[in-house]
Amino acid sequence: MQYDLHTHSTASDGTCSPSELVALAHANGVGCVALTDHDTIAGIEDARRQARLLAIQLVAGVEISVSWGTQTLHILGLNLDIECEKLNTGLSKLRTFRDWRALEIARKLERAGIPETYAAVKKLSNGTLISRTHFAQHLINVEKAKNMQAVFKHFLVKGKPGYVEGDWASLEEAIEWINAAGGLAVIAHPARYRLSATRLRELMSTFKELGGTGLEVISGSHSDKENRSMAEYARRFDLAASIGSDFHGAHHPWRQIGKMSNLPENLFPVWKCKQWPVFAGSVSV
Ligand code: AMP
Ligand code: MN
Ligand code: MN
Ligand code: MN
Repeated sequence: MQYDLHTHSTASDGTCSPSELVALAHANGVGCVALTDHDTIAGIEDARRQARLLAIQLVAGVEISVSWGTQTLHILGLNLDIECEKLNTGLSKLRTFRDWRALEIARKLERAGIPETYAAVKKLSNGTLISRTHFAQHLINVEKAKNMQAVFKHFLVKGKPGYVEGDWASLEEAIEWINAAGGLAVIAHPARYRLSATRLRELMSTFKELGGTGLEVISGSHSDKENRSMAEYARRFDLAASIGSDFHGAHHPWRQIGKMSNLPENLFPVWKCKQWPVFAGSVSV
C-alpha cells in the first residue's frame, strides 16, 4: 500500500481544496493519505467526507511550527483526535501569532515600497490562514520577484525587508499537544533545516526524550542522498520512519502526492505503531 503522510491544502498554503487533494491522492494510487496543514486542522472534515466517498484512508494530521532556539522546525502530528481541546487551544495560539505576523510582514513590506500587501495576501489565502507562501505569491504577482526561491531569498528570510522572527510553539508543547490528541509526533523533512550533525543529533535525542515518535525519512523536499542519511538517523535513534511528499499543489512537479521513493525495508514504519488508526475496512472513520 502506498502512503503519503505529509500534504497541504487551501486550509493553509496549498492550492487544492482538501477534497480535491484526497481525490488526487486516490487517482495517484495512494491508499492512505494524511492531510497536514500548517497549524490548522480546519481541512480535515472536508477531506474525510471525500475519503469516505472514495474508500481511501485519511489520517487526520497537522504540521506544527516550532521555535527551537533560533531555528524554526516543523513537527507533524499524525492520527489526531481533532476534538482534543489541548491541541485546538495550542493551534489557535499559533494562528493568533500568524495573524499578528501577517500584519507585521505587510507593514514592513509597505515600508519597503510594496503597497496594499495585507489585503492582497488575505485574498490569496481565502481569508483563513496566512503563510509566507501567500506573501511570496503576491510579490510574484506584482513582479517584485520571478519565482518562489527568489522571493524568499530577497524578501522573506532573515535580514530581508519582510522578515519577522517566528514565535511558535516550543518543541515540548508541540509534542504534548500531539500526544494529548492521541497522535504520533514526527520531525518533518529533517534534512531541510541545515543543522550541523551535532545539532541534529541533539534534536533527535531531545525529541525522543520529550515523547516524539518518528522521523520523516523520505520527503519530497529531500534529495535521495538526504533520504538515505535520514534513514541512518532513524535507525540510530530508534525512531519510527515516515514518508511524505509535502505536496502543496501541481505547481511543484517534484513534490506530487504519492510520488516518492519507498521506505527502506529495515526501518519501522509509523503505520506499524500501536497508536496508528484502525480504519473500518478500507474506509476511513
Ligand atoms: P510560514 O509557515 O508561513 O512561515 O511559511 C513557511 C512555508 O513557506 C513553508 O511551509 C513552505 O511552503 C514555504 N517556504 C519556505 N521557504 C521557502 C523557499 N525558500 N522557497 C519556497 N517556499 C518556501
Ligand atoms: Mn508550506
Ligand atoms: Mn514544512
Ligand atoms: Mn509541509
